Amino acid sequence: MVDFELSEEQVMVRDMARAFAQRELAPFAAAWDRESRFPAAAVAKMGPLGLMGVFVPTDWGGAGFDTVSYVVAMEEISAACASTGTIMSVNNSLTCDPVLKFGDQAQKQRFLAPMAQGKTLGCFALSEPGNGSDAGAAKCTARLSEDGSHYVVNGTKNWITNGPDADTCVLFASTNPDLKNKGISAFVHELPIEGLTVGAHERKLGIKASSTSQLVYDNVKLPVSRRLGQEGDGFKIAMSTLDGGRIGIAAQALGIGRAAYEASLKYALEREAFGQPISRLQAIQFKLADMATRLDAARLLTFRAAILKDRKVRFTKEAAMAKLYASESASAIANQAIQVFGGNGYVEDFPVERHFRDARITEIYEGTSEIQRLVIAVNVIKELGGA
Ligand SMILES: Cc1cc2nc3c(=O)[nH]c(=O)nc-3n(C[C@H](O)[C@H](O)[C@H](O)COP(=O)(O)OP(=O)(O)OC[C@H]3O[C@@H](n4cnc5c(N)ncnc54)[C@H](O)[C@@H]3O)c2cc1C
Repeated sequence: MVDFELSEEQVMVRDMARAFAQRELAPFAAAWDRESRFPAAAVAKMGPLGLMGVFVPTDWGGAGFDTVSYVVAMEEISAACASTGTIMSVNNSLTCDPVLKFGDQAQKQRFLAPMAQGKTLGCFALSEPGNGSDAGAAKCTARLSEDGSHYVVNGTKNWITNGPDADTCVLFASTNPDLKNKGISAFVHELPIEGLTVGAHERKLGIKASSTSQLVYDNVKLPVSRRLGQEGDGFKIAMSTLDGGRIGIAAQALGIGRAAYEASLKYALEREAFGQPISRLQAIQFKLADMATRLDAARLLTFRAAILKDRKVRFTKEAAMAKLYASESASAIANQAIQVFGGNGYVEDFPVERHFRDARITEIYEGTSEIQRLVIAVNVIKELGGA
């Protein structure tokens, strides 16, 4: 069945997220970006609205909505402030989700419930200075102590979103380096913790109000009870988590692209050149047409991936397609938005230069566009019975 209508509940979530985003985020997003300021007070208001655990069941402190609701909420938040979209997506997709799926009761009680309520903030530590796309090559190690009671973690995790502000971390480290990706295990632990140093804030091109840093583990002791799943399950947990995460990034890209498109539409109707609004010029109309078409196509791909996730069927390929198309569309739309604005597109006084910078990250994190193409290709070849 193909149904293009949102349910009443999904409309309610979208409208709630839109109202919040337009009131609490949009008026301040440019200043937060300029000052690289983490929007702590606004994020604190998102917990009680259910925005920090949108699809986490209510039993575990979440809002108990479906993945399409998560997508529409992410789009609204990111359209107003892409940095807040990043903070929200990491908490929902990359930390709540793996603890929900792979955590035991005690881990859910301790870590998931407060994160889903927005009382604590999560981060996800997979990438390292020497490996991002090749996540299976993790150098960070977690050695089991002789008495078997705890692991000792050593190594550096790179580019960790929310790192400087997080209370909880989902960490990936090798418990058996000889086994390469099959030797990686997942953990969930609190921050701060003895032996863990949070690095300096990265100075980024965009999403500047989200915080990003290294996490340096120096003989950090984690009780065995902090391990998620079994030893060696870590790579599988990371990949499964990123499948869901890519839906969130597709939705973030949609939000950024939509904000750039809507700003362009408004500007084109108001700005005059040669005695008429530039919206009457076919050159500008074609840009608007391409933007609108890309957005609709990206939204449909994202909804499809979200619906498949909720049906609990495999959605790896569809999530990669949604993320690939939505992120490249967001960049293309923001690029054309600058063209619609002319000189005004190139300065901070108008929002599209921020959208242009913010859009770019969606082509990089949670798997670059090249990695999405790789995932899609492997799957389509497999579907055709190839190797
Ligand atoms: C702002 C920001 C926030 C981030 N947040 C997090 C986070 O919270 N947690 C986390 O764990 N990580 C995070 N990351 C890391 C991010 O996921 C990686 O940067 C990304 O996966 C790419 O890895 P890399 O930077 O090591 O690039 P590399 O893997 O070194 O890739 C370099 C280039 O080579 C290409 N390439 C690599 N392998 C292949 C291949 N097999 N086929 C074709 N092309 C290939 C890539 O596409 C890219 O173009 C973040 C990054 C940034 C910039």
